[in-house]
Amino acid sequence: MNSSWASIICCPACRGDLLFEPDQLSCRHCLVHYRIQNRVPVFLSTEAAVVSLDHQSNPIGGDYEAILRAGHELILHIGAGATSSKYSNCIEFEHKIFRHTDVVGDAHTLPFRDNVFDRVFAFNVFEHLRKPRKAATEVLRVLKPTGSIAIHTAFLQPLHEAPAHFFNATEFGVRDWFSGFEIEKCHVSDNFGPGVMLAFLLSAMKQSLRDSQTSPQEEARVMHTTLGQWAEIWDNRAAGAPNGFEILQRLPQPQQKRVAAGFELLARKPAAGI
Ligand SMILES: [Zn+2]
Repeated sequence: MNSSWASIICCPACRGDLLFEPDQLSCRHCLVHYRIQNRVPVFLSTEAAVVSLDHQSNPIGGDYEAILRAGHELILHIGAGATSSKYSNCIEFEHKIFRHTDVVGDAHTLPFRDNVFDRVFAFNVFEHLRKPRKAATEVLRVLKPTGSIAIHTAFLQPLHEAPAHFFNATEFGVRDWFSGFEIEKCHVSDNFGPGVMLAFLLSAMKQSLRDSQTSPQEEARVMHTTLGQWAEIWDNRAAGAPNGFEILQRLPQPQQKRVAAGFELLARKPAAGI
């Protein structure tokens, strides 16, 4: 980790000053200790998983890479994963230790002081947070006034990284999470266009068929249907189901849960005294 960053890192529990020791950080205020693992401060209660150095995440896109390369801003990259290039002006924040991770912690309680970053990136992170609105509030806190964010998050995507996939948000949900910000634009970027949506969902559907041991003949019946046929069954129920509809409807629950339209939850209030 860049030693100049010590001044902007603080205790995530109480935001107190930290004492940097060779093998741990100690909060001078609440006296909590945090481990240092592979030279990375770990603000978790458990050891951080270490991801193979070979692992490489998807590129973040040329425009964002150019902002990092320009080097004018101090940037917090939440959920950076395994980046291809390391930039000295960017803190890579993760919940595991990837090849370039600088700080490990929980996005709901960022271990950084108020008003320190010019920009925050979080690509494909917020659907994986239990409390996205709380994390958004933390991002707001650590940004300098007029500092900016770039967020990518899921809308119509199949289940991924289960069980740490909590939300698929509509535009209005995303705007609500980030309602503390002056939102300039909330649009569909190229990486999330309708073509990407269909490809991602249908690939997951195909995988569900494979994993459910559907026969090759039945799989072929589904895969040879047309998009028009599926649209027709929604628009005109009387037209009858296209080939493959019942095959999908009969998939076992674990496979349906990756690509279903929704969930039915049945629950009850616990007995008094529990
Ligand atoms: Zn503390």
